[in-house]
Amino acid sequence: MMIPFSPPRIDEKTIEAVSEVLKSGWITTGPKTKLFEKEISAYCGVKSTVAVNSWTMGMQVLLHWWGIGEGDEVILPAYTYCASANVIVHAGAKPVLVDINGEDFNLDTEAVRKVITTKTKAILAVDIGGFPCDYDVLRSLINEPEIKSKFSPSNELQQKLGRILLLSDAAHSFGALMNGQKSAALADIATFSFHAVKNLTTAEGGALCFNLPEHFDHEEIYREMCVKILHGQNKDALAKTKKGNWRYDVEEPGFKCNMTDIQAAIGLVELERYQENLDRRKAVFNAYDNAFSKEEWASIPLHTTEAKTSSYHLYQLRINNISEEQRDRIIQEIFEQDVSVNVHFLPIPLLTAYKKRGYNINDYPEAYGKYAQMISLPVYYDLTDEQVELVIEAVKSSVVRVLGF
Ligand SMILES: *Cc1c(COP(=O)(O)O)cnc(C)c1O
Repeated sequence: MMIPFSPPRIDEKTIEAVSEVLKSGWITTGPKTKLFEKEISAYCGVKSTVAVNSWTMGMQVLLHWWGIGEGDEVILPAYTYCASANVIVHAGAKPVLVDINGEDFNLDTEAVRKVITTKTKAILAVDIGGFPCDYDVLRSLINEPEIKSKFSPSNELQQKLGRILLLSDAAHSFGALMNGQKSAALADIATFSFHAVKNLTTAEGGALCFNLPEHFDHEEIYREMCVKILHGQNKDALAKTKKGNWRYDVEEPGFKCNMTDIQAAIGLVELERYQENLDRRKAVFNAYDNAFSKEEWASIPLHTTEAKTSSYHLYQLRINNISEEQRDRIIQEIFEQDVSVNVHFLPIPLLTAYKKRGYNINDYPEAYGKYAQMISLPVYYDLTDEQVELVIEAVKSSVVRVLGF
């Protein structure tokens, strides 16, 4: 039987929670979604949370709200999922890609400094694999007087912040830690994905976590975002069920990307037992570390330092000194042994849509090098010790077969 790559953890508890919502007669945004938002804020230690139907749509609304558009630039790593760059293109702004650093799979903060211009409105740091970026370094960078003086706000919100906005694509890093804080609390706004393959899932879904400086009114922002994600309508479906309370207004042409209570019910179950999930993932990571640190051909991924702890989303193993073509052959061999593996990610400049826009992979040697030698191994709660051993054996024998030692 095939070992899958990342199946969701669905059991009787999940099914019961969803059934309860279905039977309640209230299936769209309502009490479960509101509770889920509050619990995410408490768990992450952020000021407010808005649940949405995906990371992508949440981020789209966010960029719109912040007024990012034509003529603006957003800095992000070349090594990420296409969604991180696509939303910037849809906003009408320019994705400015930087290479990743030599240590992990995250953006190189020195490279970020070099590409900041007067057009830079935001930095989108991506916690690849669940390992937090250097938010402390990025935060001091955007607060440097010289960098701040370059910043040219184009609306009141941007003026109120007075510097580049620090965004976190935390699609992988729910529950990751940095200096004792949840990594989501270290950016101005952190954005989660609860897609089926992510650490915490709601089938599809996402959340925006706000942690702007004190002089921003987070309750007001929460209200504004709830309107934006529901057509711009100033009353949601639940509020309209109050007797005679039908009349509403549309404050502006909004978007439509609210989370449903069916999704939130799954998320609440996931959140309640999230520590179990993290513990199991950590154990799988440790087993892989033990096995592969003994192999000269392997480089194990960085997931724990004194300051940082990963959420153990992706185990990104690298096979030293191989070509992209050899990597692909190794993957084929692993699949032949009924083990599913994956590649995270095809760097943005390798995608046709971005080649056409003039990006060239040769400008991002570290991203290409890591991509070409990387294989992501299965990590999930239901993966048994026995299966972990099968994965290890499949990887080892495939490497030997392809490289011939
Ligand atoms: C999954 C993912 C997204 C997109 O999330 P959706 O909820 O599917 O929109 C964005 N960024 C990264 C790094 C991801 O892995």
